Amino acid sequence: MVRPPRNPSAQLISLALATQHHDMHRHCQTFKREYIALAKEVNHRLPDDQPKINFHAISCSAYHWVCMQSNVKTFPAIFAFKANSGEFRLLKEEYITADSIAEALSVQLNAPFIENNLELEGDGYDEFRPVDILGASSYSLTRTRDAVFNDAALSFMHALKTGVFSVKEGRQALNSIQREVFSNWIDLLYWTLPPTWMLHTLINDIRNNIDSVMSSEENLLFMVERHRDVVNGGNMKWSVQCSKSDDRAGYSCGLWSLFHIVSIGVIERHRAVLGARDQVSTKFVAQTVRNYVEQFFDCAVCKEYFLEMFDRCGFNHCRRFKQPQKLPPRESWAEFAMWLWEVHNDVNVKLVEAGSQREGGNVGISKRKSNLSDWPTVKQCPSCRDDKGNWKKDAILRHLKKEYWPAGVQNFRFVVLKKKEETSHDESSGFVSFFLENIFYLVLAAAIIMWSKRQFIHFTGRHKKMDQDYV
Ligand SMILES: Cc1cc2nc3c(=O)[nH]c(=O)nc-3n(C[C@H](O)[C@H](O)[C@H](O)COP(=O)(O)OP(=O)(O)OC[C@H]3O[C@@H](n4cnc5c(N)ncnc54)[C@H](O)[C@@H]3O)c2cc1C
Repeated sequence: MVRPPRNPSAQLISLALATQHHDMHRHCQTFKREYIALAKEVNHRLPDDQPKINFHAISCSAYHWVCMQSNVKTFPAIFAFKANSGEFRLLKEEYITADSIAEALSVQLNAPFIENNLELEGDGYDEFRPVDILGASSYSLTRTRDAVFNDAALSFMHALKTGVFSVKEGRQALNSIQREVFSNWIDLLYWTLPPTWMLHTLINDIRNNIDSVMSSEENLLFMVERHRDVVNGGNMKWSVQCSKSDDRAGYSCGLWSLFHIVSIGVIERHRAVLGARDQVSTKFVAQTVRNYVEQFFDCAVCKEYFLEMFDRCGFNHCRRFKQPQKLPPRESWAEFAMWLWEVHNDVNVKLVEAGSQREGGNVGISKRKSNLSDWPTVKQCPSCRDDKGNWKKDAILRHLKKEYWPAGVQNFRFVVLKKKEETSHDESSGFVSFFLENIFYLVLAAAIIMWSKRQFIHFTGRHKKMDQDYV
């Protein structure tokens, strides 16, 4: 429910929806003008000794968490809060007047002015923008799973277009370190991402032409363009929950999503890899992500934080990612997902802390703010904490999987990774690996068919000849 901090002055809050739908858009624009005019009239008619009444507007498109919690079904929804009270009254749009507002807020108004000059003009209209009075933006908003995957795919493509060939280095072909980091990153996506995800068409193309894309930005851009429509169905916008209308936020938000999807893929897909098993460990995965951030994530503060944290074994990863080479315990595969979740929450806390500092609050984060930045919130996952508020690992893993992995049974597809020393840098290597992989699948399919046939014969005895078969 909308619960503004108890305020010494009365306040009105309107929850409305920004929409592209023509009729609704016109309706909202009309209401916006009326609402602003009412705000002016009410405050004009207040006796001099009365505190000003605050009028707020919240966009449900940007802060839909607030609207969901307030159970808002029709727009606009107008809540009237009396001074010093958490109690509210819901006002109906069609009956709203300055006097009905005054009555709901228990305030007296002077008689209306005969000449009403309160028409909206220029500045007043522009000044009035929807505001985040409840700090709703500190909360993560609920995204659908489709939106999570779409955001991740967009950020992957955005990074390919803007982060791989850096302006600083004159957009030259990647050097040997960058080549290794980039190809490890692509291999990681290849084996961890859900096999049914359309993003694989782009990843496969890149893998099959890895030398070509690493030697020229033009080739890489061409490849991204080629898959653009297939991967995202032409939807090239980050979800509103992710971008909050700011593409930079959309990019890093989608990148987090991609990292989390990878982290669940480590749990779900580690058994599916044939070939270079040395690349399949939590330690190798974490190092690959670290190196990717170092080389290709063009956000200076993010990079600084992440590398500093990683290189001092942040969140104990040097211990947590130790796995025996032979048959690592099942639960060890979940460590990367849990670690990444903790790191992400740490960044969330840092951001809330920075926001609080900007507002002139305490530098040390309060318990309340820490709870605000912890993901998932109690509402998103009631079972993720015990009675004392401590995290429950199994529930968090379930929640991460719900958020970052497709629902239902996945097609368990084997993937083959080549050993790194086998990588040849000539143009034909893509074709050779493609050829080898297909040969592998053919042999595997033939073996399965033969085995099934034998089982069939064994169980049915169809191989035994019947008496009538003899002449
Ligand atoms: C590796 C990395 C390091 C960064 N470091 C910094 C930094 O040091 N300083 C800085 O200012 N910005 C940093 N950023 C950017 C910052 O974290 C946010 O991405 C950005 O501010 C946009 O925030 P957002 O509110 O959209 O949500 P984001 O934090 O981007 O989160 C996206 C979505 O992930 C989900 N989510 C939130 N927390 C978790 C979690 N713990 N586990 C799983 N899912 C979660 C929520 O649904 C949320 O909407 C970093 C980004 C990355 C990828």
